[in-house]
Amino acid sequence: MKKSILVALMVILSLLIRSEGNARSKIINMTCDQQLENNITLFMPNFVRTMEIIGTLLRTSRNGTAISGTGPDGNYGLGQCYGDLSPQDCILCYAEARTILPSCFPHNGGRIYLDGCFMRVQNYSFFHEYTGPNDMVVCGNTTAKSGLFGAAVREAVGNAVVEGSGNWDYFARGESVVNVNESVFVMADCWRTLSPAECRRCLENASAAISKCLPSSEGRALNSGCFMRYSDTDFLNPIPVATISSNRGMVLAIVVSIVSSVTVLTVALMIILYIMKHRLIQKKRRGSYDAKKLSKMLNDSSLHFKYSTIEKATSNWNECNKLGQGGFGTVYKGVLSDGREIAVKRLFFNNKFRATDFYNEVNMISSVEHKNLVRLLGCSCSGPESILVYEYLPNLSLDRFIFDATKGKTLNWQKRFLIISGTAEGLVYLHENTKNRIIHRDIKAANILLDLRLRAKIADFGLARSFQDDQSHISTAIAGTLGYMAPEYLAHGQLTEKADVYSFGVLLLEIVTGMENNKSKTAEYTDSLVSIVWNHFQEDTVEEIFDPNLMMQHYVNTNDLKEIKKVIQVGLLCTQEAPSLRPSMSIVLKMLAKDETLPLPSNPPFIDEKTMELNDISDKLQFYNYGDNDCSIATVSHSDFYPR
Ligand code: ATP
Repeated sequence: MKKSILVALMVILSLLIRSEGNARSKIINMTCDQQLENNITLFMPNFVRTMEIIGTLLRTSRNGTAISGTGPDGNYGLGQCYGDLSPQDCILCYAEARTILPSCFPHNGGRIYLDGCFMRVQNYSFFHEYTGPNDMVVCGNTTAKSGLFGAAVREAVGNAVVEGSGNWDYFARGESVVNVNESVFVMADCWRTLSPAECRRCLENASAAISKCLPSSEGRALNSGCFMRYSDTDFLNPIPVATISSNRGMVLAIVVSIVSSVTVLTVALMIILYIMKHRLIQKKRRGSYDAKKLSKMLNDSSLHFKYSTIEKATSNWNECNKLGQGGFGTVYKGVLSDGREIAVKRLFFNNKFRATDFYNEVNMISSVEHKNLVRLLGCSCSGPESILVYEYLPNLSLDRFIFDATKGKTLNWQKRFLIISGTAEGLVYLHENTKNRIIHRDIKAANILLDLRLRAKIADFGLARSFQDDQSHISTAIAGTLGYMAPEYLAHGQLTEKADVYSFGVLLLEIVTGMENNKSKTAEYTDSLVSIVWNHFQEDTVEEIFDPNLMMQHYVNTNDLKEIKKVIQVGLLCTQEAPSLRPSMSIVLKMLAKDETLPLPSNPPFIDEKTMELNDISDKLQFYNYGDNDCSIATVSHSDFYPR
């Protein structure tokens, strides 16, 4: 009896601990290592497993570590939510971290700092690292504050060093009053894998570094073993009742006093237990309702593929069936028992956590049908991995043709023009269909697939964000592939259908020149493809940059040449700097179809992609990196997928 009462008390305490707050899932910085994975078939399952284990641990406590596999592709992971996050907020923050961190792939490690949590994965044990070359401070809001404010920051930060390393959970929060109207708010959090001495050293480093932000009103120290922040605004969540537990003695005292007065409480507890039991039953019912709803949806639906069916279709993920590799998964060819050929995308991260949402999104996208869009046939979301099933396009993607000296010959101008028109038609449909207007966000040659007769079908659409901003989607990450991304989207995250128009313009220039846009600014060519074409256009020498494969065709007649020049002009109209000057996709389609005089394009943007993306991600924060930053979030080169 006593035991059950104690358990009940603990449950009551834990219920009291739950506090609704702010998940603070804003990304402050992500750093990916430079080293690539060694063997993807070993690396990926280890990576996914690590994320899963940490995810499970974070549901019950605010931190978790996992080790999956051994050797160069083994995976060591650490996830931690800062001490003032409620369990629910911790789950939300981690959901964001685990969604963004995989974009470090194929690099084999990385770390991500959010305002509410931290996550890191490596192929070695880093659990005791408290300092390193990637340590940095991020200062925000450059409003210069007074000397008094600075003094208050130093005092609060100093206290946080002592308190943080002394507390059992390595978390400290504090407020220091500057004057009646102003206070400084501070928090510090060490990873729980450190020893108290390591935590202290980390916080000392962080406090020294963070003061470099003064007189700014915001500062954050992102260190290998800890996170520290000060601000003039109160970003902290209300003190959870759980902080009582930061003092073990106090908890013990509470428990002892509770036990001693247990007789008095028995009757009251019986009543509370009854109510709780009742609530638990209700909660269970709700949970099983969700699970039931999902399993009913899956059972009733032709969109659902059993995991075993997919495994069989791909001959157990046989390497020979591998079609390609993207930023979010590996694509395999599969053959179903009825002979139907499918393309299967095996996602790097598992979506079980929000399987119902995942299924609903698949359901929505699969209803979008057009001859120039790749059909999403369904998914597998109840098995051990999250999987998408697409119609199979035997000629794979356009990039494999236009950038290949031999295969490029297969595509004469007429075929290329049909691919261009087909892609434009597909985009018009996505942008203008009234049921679900969709911005693709990642139009590029690798996402234009070709059917048996080399007709274009746009892949990978829809699982990004649709026009209506869905609040259930946590991620606001910039998505897309560098080189194809419109400047306003890259620099300010401003997303309209004109971002797709820009990418389409780049694609047109690639199709005509056979030059790979992503290879610009490398040894191969020094200017961006858009600038190269723009210069030739102005000098009226565009013929010089036509794909040699095109010109080798004996049947390029004067009409074709005229059409090629027109396509270049349309490409430049689509890549104009100002989105408002770019035509809509339906106008583009008309321009392509009709023989009319086109307007003259204005200049394309000057794009320093790296700087622009960093500016955006930092959200007007200044970066002071006092170590060597290998490769930051600016290297993200893949499409956003769907929010987890
Ligand atoms: P990302 O998705 O990161 O932007 P991506 O588009 O290159 O990059 P995936 O969509 O994962 O990556 O596709 C990888 C490759 O697999 C494609 O480039 C294409 O060659 C092949 N592929 C994808 N889907 C199909 C399909 N339905 N049929 C045939 N081949 C496909």
